[in-house]
Amino acid sequence: MYKLEAINSMKKLMKEYFLSLETGKKKIAWCTSVGPAELLRSFGFEVYFPENHGALLGATRTAIDFIPDAIKCGYSGHICSYTTADIGSFVKKQTPLQKHYGMKGIPEPDLIAYNTNQCREVEDWFTFYADHFNCPIVGVQPPRYLDEVTQDEVDLVVKQFKKMIPTCEKVSGQKFDLKKFKDVVRLSKEATLLWQKVLKTSIADNAPLSFFDGTIHMGPIVVLRGTQVAKDYYQELLNELEDNVSKGKGFLPETRMRIFWEGMPIWGKLRMMSDLFKQNKAAVVASTYCSSWVFDNFDEHNPWESTARAYTEIFINRSEKSKMKMLEHWLKEYKIDGIIYHDSKTCFNNSNAKFGMPQRLKNDTGVPSLIIEGDLCDLRFFSEGQSITKIETFIEQIQESKALG
Ligand code: SF4
Repeated sequence: MYKLEAINSMKKLMKEYFLSLETGKKKIAWCTSVGPAELLRSFGFEVYFPENHGALLGATRTAIDFIPDAIKCGYSGHICSYTTADIGSFVKKQTPLQKHYGMKGIPEPDLIAYNTNQCREVEDWFTFYADHFNCPIVGVQPPRYLDEVTQDEVDLVVKQFKKMIPTCEKVSGQKFDLKKFKDVVRLSKEATLLWQKVLKTSIADNAPLSFFDGTIHMGPIVVLRGTQVAKDYYQELLNELEDNVSKGKGFLPETRMRIFWEGMPIWGKLRMMSDLFKQNKAAVVASTYCSSWVFDNFDEHNPWESTARAYTEIFINRSEKSKMKMLEHWLKEYKIDGIIYHDSKTCFNNSNAKFGMPQRLKNDTGVPSLIIEGDLCDLRFFSEGQSITKIETFIEQIQESKALG
């Protein structure tokens, strides 16, 4: 059975990270997953990411136990299920972190920071906690849906980043230190470039990393970017994957086609989905989701502008036109035979199948597409039987058209 050895290091790393949040040695800043983590780390904060907790609630299928409690607090069951699962879990004082790592609960914040580059939901979500803990909250609100990110937008976001400094200084008790900021940005850049290389190993015909494995191995680039341990981890993972590529060892013994996954993972069904594609000899080799933590514009010599640009240029924050350009590039780069859009019911921000993109992209590239309905955490929006039928039919159709040449 194909198994990456690096998973053991990753589990150890993630455990140490979570336990470090409870030692009381460092002040805790909460941050959105594509928020200004580098700036926060430069002030000595340990950084906690509620979205990572949301993904954990989805993957452990506990989300559905908690969503009703958030609904009782006035949050609709149709908004982001990371938000509702996380708030419900907090209200119920239960989290898988207790069972997995023996933690008391989620760590209390000293500071809360968000970036609406991904969605406005994070502001509402994080404000719930800022109110509850009476905690300072700072936010960045970049322009959205851009074709191109120009110097004007970068300047605006830099201004917003800099506005965070007085609050960060007050809460952390540390003065802003440009050298520290540059060091964190450098480490973050080094880790993110390794992560990019990790993903690109699956350009190989015998791809060594599936999308489903990628969603697990991306943990450190989300929660530990800007640290040496994250960089070391991705070097280890990359070495193993490159070794597998050189030996022609892929995650599937035999591959009939290559698939691209667009949209959020269905966290509670990762194993089921991975097995389904495997049985059908279809390799899911790339995704927009895993690529979202590649910030190749980071530059420690220009830390403000480069982080502002990188965090504003992310896929989710762009126009349809710009997203299509990126997708066209990935479809070519990864030699994709078919693209699956996950139309996530509680996250329209990360669902790109609603405004005709699948048809337009097929016209431009000839790559066939399938839309499946589901959700990141709330499995009431996902029909397993229906999705299996749709996916197997799609795979057969691709197979037939490949046979016809
Ligand atoms: S991008 Fe979607 S899943 Fe992520 S926090 Fe925003 S609404 Fe939720």
